[in-house]
Amino acid sequence: MKKIEELKVLIDKKTLANRIKELAVEINSTYDNNSTLNLICVLKGAVMFYTELIKHLKMPVKMEFVRLSSYGSSTQSKGEVKSLNLSLPDFEGQNVLVVEDIIDTGLTLDFLVKFIKQNCQAKDVKLAVLFDKKCARKYDIKPDFSAFQVDDKFIVGFGLDYEGFYRNLDYIGYFE
Ligand code: 5GP
Repeated sequence: MKKIEELKVLIDKKTLANRIKELAVEINSTYDNNSTLNLICVLKGAVMFYTELIKHLKMPVKMEFVRLSSYGSSTQSKGEVKSLNLSLPDFEGQNVLVVEDIIDTGLTLDFLVKFIKQNCQAKDVKLAVLFDKKCARKYDIKPDFSAFQVDDKFIVGFGLDYEGFYRNLDYIGYFE
């Protein structure tokens, strides 16, 4: 178990809040604010980002949650997506925005977007991520909204974990 004293701050609480607010403005200006937006939170990592983002959205929103896992307890992608809960309603004729903590290889979101497109009859499916780790990408998938770029660091906090811990931090940190 790594010690919290060894954690370096990468992004503080205020910077996170300001940037998420800016991202919400971008999302508000992309969609018709009179139409329903179905927001899918990818548990567990996206939970803090999701609850912060949703407060600033102007359109009527519906909240959905899925639970997927590709890392297990390591700091490297396992290369396969484990679906722990993937029950979603029919989104016929409606917009869907998938909200994820971080896009790394792209495996998880590639899997989820394909699943939604094949099964949920959505009008449109877009992606919002708190972090884009572009250097690790292996799948041809690009987020539509992305708050921060991150290089090849393993980050924790604000929903992101290491062996299940550190999700409750109100900042983003990394271990050197
Ligand atoms: P991908 O499927 O794009 O390779 O990986 C996405 C998932 O890997 C994320 O939802 C997240 O759970 C995990 N992940 C990727 N990079 C990091 C990181 O730097 N820190 C943490 N805590 N999780 C990460």
